[in-house]
Amino acid sequence: MPIYEYQSKDPNQSCEYCLDSFEVLQGIKDPPISRCPACGNGVKKIISWCRAAVVESAESDAMVERTVREYERAGMWSHAAELADKHAEKTKDQSLKTRALENYTKAGHRVDNLVEGGW
Ligand SMILES: [Zn+2]
Repeated sequence: MPIYEYQSKDPNQSCEYCLDSFEVLQGIKDPPISRCPACGNGVKKIISWCRAAVVESAESDAMVERTVREYERAGMWSHAAELADKHAEKTKDQSLKTRALENYTKAGHRVDNLVEGGW
C-alpha cells in the first residue's frame, strides 16, 4: 500500500503531529486527506510514493552496515559478526560474509568450525 506524506499547510495552525511531516497509509483509490487527523487543521500532501522492496533493502543494508560498524567500534565482535553474518546470508553479500568471519575470529570463535558445522 502506498504511503503518502503530509505536512501542515500553516505552521502556525498545526499540532505536534502535523508540524513535521507525517505518513499516512492509504489505498490508491482513497482521496487524499486535507485535514490533520489529530488537530483538524489543513494539511498538504508533500510526497507520494510506494515503499518499494528495493528501497527498503537499500535502506536496511545501510542500516546494517552502520550497526555492524558501531559494534566493531565498541569491540562487540560477536554482535557485529552475527549481524553481518545474518545479513550476508540474506543478501549473498560476500564482503559482508568475510567481515562476519573476521569478527567471529576476533570474538574468539574458531571460524572453520562455524563454517563447516553451521550454527
Ligand atoms: Zn495537526
